[in-house]
Amino acid sequence: MFKISGQTKLAALYAQPARHSFSPLMQTTAFQAAGIDAIYLSFDLTAEKFPHAMEAIRSLDLLGVNISMPYKQKALTLVDEVDQAAQLIGAVNTVVNQKGKLIGYNTDGAGFMKSMAEQAVESPGKELTLLGAGGAAQAILVQAALDGVRKINVFNRPSPNYQKIAALIERLEQVTTCEFQLFELAEQTKLAEKIAGSTLLVNATSVGMTTSDSLVPPEMLRRDLVVADLIYQPQQTALLQAAKANGAQTINGLGMLLHQGAEAFKLWTGQSMPLAVVRPVLEKQIKMKE
Ligand code: NAP
Repeated sequence: MFKISGQTKLAALYAQPARHSFSPLMQTTAFQAAGIDAIYLSFDLTAEKFPHAMEAIRSLDLLGVNISMPYKQKALTLVDEVDQAAQLIGAVNTVVNQKGKLIGYNTDGAGFMKSMAEQAVESPGKELTLLGAGGAAQAILVQAALDGVRKINVFNRPSPNYQKIAALIERLEQVTTCEFQLFELAEQTKLAEKIAGSTLLVNATSVGMTTSDSLVPPEMLRRDLVVADLIYQPQQTALLQAAKANGAQTINGLGMLLHQGAEAFKLWTGQSMPLAVVRPVLEKQIKMKE
């Protein structure tokens, strides 16, 4: 039975829009299952209200917050300390309230890497091909490089994100031993060559979310390639369907969603998220919204 009292602590999501998020269900289910007297709510914030809401973490003594679009970059400037991954990415998705001191983290990349490890995908020392250069791709690029992936090939359209990830690669070359190559998505011969040399292909673009398009011709997908798509709605994008048909191991974005939340939960509570309880609740809710 759900309990709430004068002692109940609050964690929250700050975003715009925020009301569609699965995080309140995921985190409140986790707090209850772990016996932690806390709840999690979503706040849809205007740009004007966002800095006040950040200050409220201190004044209302919140456990912490998740930050989503469009405030991940702004949050970096409003916290007292930032961890290495968030600093490199230039975006904060989790804030921990440490007795009034706000510490910024980015759990997206770590969540992705945990979701790979959970599926027995070994990435340290391996070559990865990454499609996309937006917020999620940048988070994965940073964490994969920090976690010891040997080589990362990035493909994106020529766009502001392309320029951003080029600059990020330069920063990562200073602090990791990972090798990077950046290509335009239109370079299909290079795409075929780089996928052929990779053990892991990751779609971190939004292609496949609202259409049945895929950026990768099916003939580039082979049995011993692991194919991950960050999209979890639909559960099987056209890319994953084609990869599965060719005998490849496929992984959708549900694991990343769960593990980025689990990383935040651990930062706020010091405890592991009870994944066995939370995962089926989240899966059911995602299916209902499909
Ligand atoms: P974002 O910052 O808006 O980036 C979108 C990316 O998709 C960019 O690289 C963009 O390329 C590319 N793209 C969009 N339309 C394209 C097209 N028609 N052809 C080629 N490339 C295209 O978004 P994001 O936050 O990185 O999210 C990317 C995807 O990951 C979304 O589907 C999102 O739902 C998913 N995601 C999942 C999780 C999870 O927990 N599972 C977490 C975060 C994100 P340009 O730079 O050329 O525009």
